[in-house]
Amino acid sequence: MEHYNYQNLEEKDLQRLCRRPKMEFKSIFRDVEPIIEGVRRDGDRGINHFTRKFDGVSPDPLVVDPADRNVTLDPEVRQAIDTAFDNIRRFHQAQLPETLEVETMPGVRCKRVARPIERVGLYVPGGTAILPSTLLMLGIPAQLAGCKTIVVATPPQEEGSADEMIYIAQKIGATHLLRAGGAQAVAGMALGTSSVPKVDKILGPGNQFVTAAKMLLQNSDAQIAIDMPAGPSEVLVIADGSAEPDFVAADLLSQAEHGPDSQVVLLATEGFDLPAFNQSLNRQVEELPRKAIAQQAVSQSFIITVNTLEEAFRFSNRYAPEHLIVQCTRAEEWEDHITSAGSVFLGHWSPESAGDYASGTNHTLPTYGYAHMYSGVSVDSFLKQITMQQLSEEGLKNLAPTISTLAQLEGLHAHRNAVTIRLKE
Ligand code: NAD
Repeated sequence: MEHYNYQNLEEKDLQRLCRRPKMEFKSIFRDVEPIIEGVRRDGDRGINHFTRKFDGVSPDPLVVDPADRNVTLDPEVRQAIDTAFDNIRRFHQAQLPETLEVETMPGVRCKRVARPIERVGLYVPGGTAILPSTLLMLGIPAQLAGCKTIVVATPPQEEGSADEMIYIAQKIGATHLLRAGGAQAVAGMALGTSSVPKVDKILGPGNQFVTAAKMLLQNSDAQIAIDMPAGPSEVLVIADGSAEPDFVAADLLSQAEHGPDSQVVLLATEGFDLPAFNQSLNRQVEELPRKAIAQQAVSQSFIITVNTLEEAFRFSNRYAPEHLIVQCTRAEEWEDHITSAGSVFLGHWSPESAGDYASGTNHTLPTYGYAHMYSGVSVDSFLKQITMQQLSEEGLKNLAPTISTLAQLEGLHAHRNAVTIRLKE
């Protein structure tokens, strides 16, 4: 890992360190466009064609109703899924919004009510591993929001779909399980086919083909929304003298093993035992089955020594990490210093893995610096807000001079007439 001292960093160094590796989408768009067009033209046949080509299987049927499937699960796995489900549900249930109502002036009543997005597509990556946790993170808020059609898309396993996925699909009330992944699955959900219902919004992480398909379809006539732009996963750890070098090394590696392009950053005060950390990192990485991936990610990452924790939080806010772990004494006292991050883990006993799986917070989070302006997935991601107003006669009389003056100012006479005609009556 490269090592810097915060004091010696100039503005151009800070800019470079906060910049993520460039995502080269042009050539990926060229690969993905024919896949989208193939699905647009051939529907289910198109999805099947690309699934055979890229995944080497042809699931039959392509779409199943999870409620119709029987599942056999290891009791320990079932218990773990149930516990994670309950915690995630509890935290997300508390996010359901209350109806908001305000009388802005006598007789002028304004309301804001939430309604579910009716049809949603949840993409759960599965090219290299099955990810039941991602289905929990997307499906629970969709269910709580009240989405009526919930399509789950995930690349097929050779023998169909993993029982863990079907079990969770049942628990979240998914209506369709599309046994396909990649751009073809995203296109199927965005455009609709004879067996895949068209959805209004597609959420969930995925590889570059999935991300490119979401971006292209969002800007097409498919009329879909997407959750957020996605890049490689990231963690930034802030460690002071109280931080345990073994814990810090383990947290950084838990992110590094995601992929060779994962971003891993350590900000340490002088008191932190860096030599012990380096030893621990080298020792722990040797024991990982995904050692090569983790090593590559770590080799592209960096450490900055800071004089004060204020400096550390200043850099972190500028970097806007997807995950921020604060391994400091009285970590919670630094909460107010955090202005940009996807999800935060406070104190020595809060590893990122807790939020990845089961503490209750969502793990679908903004990467690539988008934590500056995006939030992670939540119940809000599955809702839209409708505003309503009702004016009494008195209310319209009270507001009429204001409306008339502004309508006159804008030269919109029909607007003014819609008020004056009523008051003449
Ligand atoms: P994936 O499901 O995203 O993609 C697999 C699909 O890609 C395959 O089904 C195939 O149809 C398609 N594909 C493969 N090669 C192709 C090619 N040459 N051309 C066109 N399409 C092709 O699964 P993955 O590949 O394992 O990627 C998972 C991604 O999700 C990773 O980037 C990982 O970092 C990310 N992820 C993010 C989070 C998060 O919450 N941020 C969580 C889990 C995974």
